[in-house]
Amino acid sequence: MNIYLNQLVQLSKIDQEIDEFGPRIEKTERVLKLAVEEQNAIEEKLNGFDAQIKEAKLKKSQHELHLAELSEKIKEIGKKTSLVKSEKEQKSLQLEEEICKEQCDFSNEEINRLENLIESKQALYDETLKEFEKAKAKVEATRESISSEVEAIEKERAEVYQKKQALVEQMSQKILTFYEKIRKWAKNTAVVPVKKQACYGCYMRINDKTYAAVIKGEDIITCPHCGRILYKETQEQEA
Ligand SMILES: [Zn+2]
Repeated sequence: MNIYLNQLVQLSKIDQEIDEFGPRIEKTERVLKLAVEEQNAIEEKLNGFDAQIKEAKLKKSQHELHLAELSEKIKEIGKKTSLVKSEKEQKSLQLEEEICKEQCDFSNEEINRLENLIESKQALYDETLKEFEKAKAKVEATRESISSEVEAIEKERAEVYQKKQALVEQMSQKILTFYEKIRKWAKNTAVVPVKKQACYGCYMRINDKTYAAVIKGEDIITCPHCGRILYKETQEQEA
């Protein structure tokens, strides 16, 4: 085979290898991404419970304040009652006292309800907190394990880059430019084998004359249909 063609076949295989590293790293990192997403979802739930607890506590303290005010008011009504002269005045104070007591009942009921609410939300919060700690530990473990995996892949990638560098240094600039031009649109199929007299880039049958030239392997031949560089696979390359 023509030495330039042989270099092109090697180069295209190395480029294919290089392009496979991206998806490999992505696949590894996806595991971490999923673990982080799970942790975030649990944290959101946790924050929701926390906000509900805070809101209930605030409402409870407002009712407690109101109760204190009401009890002051009832005391004052008691004082006034001891000083009243008319029955009308007494009735009006009685009515006022009744209203205060009703409000006290309402606030006490509310405090009771809010305390139950706080208790149940706190239980949910505690349970979710355990879940969160577990998810966090999983993220940390995953981060650690993938960092060594990614490191191994990066090392492999550096080696392939080195192999490419060594090959490119030996190649003619003109041929490299020609290859890169085809690679721009053909990506990893810039250099393709011919099988059963068909181009393995566009899968079209090539004419006898082109096919004979490809088999000869003396020149760099491109597919008459798509323009990719063609070569005949040797036994060794197929293996
Ligand atoms: Zn073709």
